[in-house]
Amino acid sequence: MALTYLALGSNLGDGPVMLRMALSMISVHVGRVLAQSDMIQSEPWGFESQHPFTNAVCAVRTELAPMELLSVTQKIEYQMGRTHKHAPGEPYRDRIIDIDILTYDDLNIQTEELTIPHPHMKERDFVMTPLLQCQDRLAHQPRGRGRPRRTE
Ligand code: ADP
Ligand code: MG
Repeated sequence: MALTYLALGSNLGDGPVMLRMALSMISVHVGRVLAQSDMIQSEPWGFESQHPFTNAVCAVRTELAPMELLSVTQKIEYQMGRTHKHAPGEPYRDRIIDIDILTYDDLNIQTEELTIPHPHMKERDFVMTPLLQCQDRLAHQPRGRGRPRRTE
């Protein structure tokens, strides 16, 4: 079992509805969602668009290996109506849902398809702010959820 943090973003349609739908599909296809951040609004990063983003981060306990996780999260994106994959060098576009893998335990992976930790996370406030909130919530939630605690 691994602990992975996923970043969710949407700037087409009703952002909070899209993120809730993605979270529910993640809980079915990826694993138990142990904690989630609040949803925040942010401006498009790296491209011009009049549609603001809704962003959030969740912590998920998963049995999927990293590449399986990428393929499952991409399937969720496509099932939710994402049509375009971003290619290197191409401008970013509006998207109905984006699910990025931020971390996977303390693994470092660098392949053509998958880089973990996510290469741009540290420079993006709309990722780091909800990530810190989600980590904090996971660390402080009641016993029986989240990571195992020592007996008192
Ligand atoms: P972006 O998230 O950069 O806007 P996409 O969601 O279309 O663009 O992803 C483009 C490609 O990024 C994916 O096809 C995937 O192979 C690759 N990728 C590399 N590392 C990661 C990661 N940590 N999480 C999600 N996708 C990743
Ligand atoms: Mg993505």
